[in-house]
Amino acid sequence: MIASARAGEVRARIFADADFKPDLKLFALAVVHLLESPPPQKVKEFRKESWAYRALRLAGHTGTTEELTRKLRWIVRDDVPKYRLPKEPERVCVGVMLRPAGAPCARRATHVSTRPNPLTGERDWIGACSNARHFQAYESARQESWTAWRANGEPAPKPNSGGVLLRHFERGIEPLYAWADREYTRGDVVTPPVMERDIAGVVSLADYRRAPEEAR
Ligand SMILES: [Zn+2]
Repeated sequence: MIASARAGEVRARIFADADFKPDLKLFALAVVHLLESPPPQKVKEFRKESWAYRALRLAGHTGTTEELTRKLRWIVRDDVPKYRLPKEPERVCVGVMLRPAGAPCARRATHVSTRPNPLTGERDWIGACSNARHFQAYESARQESWTAWRANGEPAPKPNSGGVLLRHFERGIEPLYAWADREYTRGDVVTPPVMERDIAGVVSLADYRRAPEEAR
């Protein structure tokens, strides 16, 4: 059990955290409620459910344990700290034009795949239109990246998403992640994107101030 003042703080932080998806936010708020409530009376007739299941029911999910298991796994898995590919951007061809020389091809890519950053293992998207020369440029750029990545010992990308629950609860979340995703490695942390946004804001503000009058 935690004191209700502390519960209030945690609740306020959860409300303020914009990275929560709605399902996960309800779940987290239900966990806070459980933490500040006295433990349930032990009644023999009731099968003992773990806190995660009780929180899920509190958050409005109903059904058999099997159905709840599926929902819980789905909600938690989505928050496991891990590297997730960036969303596929507009399909743009990597090729360049002969006229005007070097201008980027504006055609929609018909071949699309990802390539790794050889140093970090992070991926980005690359595409080519049906032009044979552009396709060749795409193929060699891809192969170069993959070869360099392998030569570099195939570095795994750092987690870039998830871990929202971990920000607010000290215990019990890591085992839950491990249950939802076998590939989860304990201790994986994600730099809160809130921080990144703040830094980006500061940088762009500095750029703005440095910019000459007429460019503003
Ligand atoms: Zn092209």
